[in-house]
Amino acid sequence: MGTIVAWVDELVIPLSSAAHSIFDHVTSYATSVFEGIRVYPEWAADGRPTGRSSIWLLSEHLARLRQSAGTYRMTYPFSDQQLLEAVVDVTARNDGHTYIRPVVFRGDGLGVDPSSVPVRVAIGTVAWGKYVSKHLHHDGASVFVTGMFRPPARFFPVGQAKGAPNYGAWSQLAKLMANAAATSEALLQGEDDGGGHCILDGSGMNLCLVEKRTLVTPEPTKWNILGGLTLRFLLESIERENLASWQYDDIPLDRLLAADEVFLTGTATEVTPVTLIKYHDRAGQMRQQEIGEGCAGPVTKRLAHFLEQVVHGRHFGYRHLLTPVPARP
Ligand code: PMP
Repeated sequence: MGTIVAWVDELVIPLSSAAHSIFDHVTSYATSVFEGIRVYPEWAADGRPTGRSSIWLLSEHLARLRQSAGTYRMTYPFSDQQLLEAVVDVTARNDGHTYIRPVVFRGDGLGVDPSSVPVRVAIGTVAWGKYVSKHLHHDGASVFVTGMFRPPARFFPVGQAKGAPNYGAWSQLAKLMANAAATSEALLQGEDDGGGHCILDGSGMNLCLVEKRTLVTPEPTKWNILGGLTLRFLLESIERENLASWQYDDIPLDRLLAADEVFLTGTATEVTPVTLIKYHDRAGQMRQQEIGEGCAGPVTKRLAHFLEQVVHGRHFGYRHLLTPVPARP
């Protein structure tokens, strides 16, 4: 590969030159929103790579980027079509990279008031494999139910944006707790109006459980959490594909522990089975429980296979959700 490039405010420059300053607003005040997007090689009918690749849900990610930016009153002078072309161009130039990170952030400016601080847009790419790979339990992830609680909308009205504050304040610390518990991922909680606790999501992914053939996931708007594009895609397609039915519903800890199957889902995470849950019981004792037989369950496997086929271009009905990357210019 030649020089790795980034796109910054319309200029294609070497990634190594795309540094930002100590005095950028984002550095001190977390004024950024971003996306994580995957690039997949296309597979032929026999499962071999065709040599072509495409970007999964690119338009949907760019629409959410604008929406997240708007939540923080950030606007930028590029259309979604311009950004789409920029993403495709940078991805083609950085041949072999599998993950794309567009970021909208506030640049040079001291002081909290963001109103006159310039909004900047940058796109970088990187080679990235499996997101959940540490502390696996058989063929799935182990997770830890942390004591981190995501705040309701009345306390944190930007909870549904994909903004740095979400990760800085909650996800990162939860992830450290999961590391300390020697688990792959952290689960975060929420408190309902009656003071009841429910499990909401992971540090960077949505949470689903399966009861018989029904997938259950917390309602993102109700809980003020990020409604993932992967989750939305699965919910929109699985009934049509006759893979499972689904419903939004709350997930208290007892329900999670009693589930037939549990999985995590997101762009980076794809569909990752959860096979072991660590948690504190009411007396504060650390406990752990296998889900199912400690192995990925049938519905989770079907959904993982379905998503894999779709993103690799093997499902013709969903090819319109893949943006082709041309050969390196
Ligand atoms: N929830 C959180 C907290 C996330 O960080 C992510 C990753 N963007 C998701 C859910 C999944 O979203 P998506 O499927 O759009 O990647």
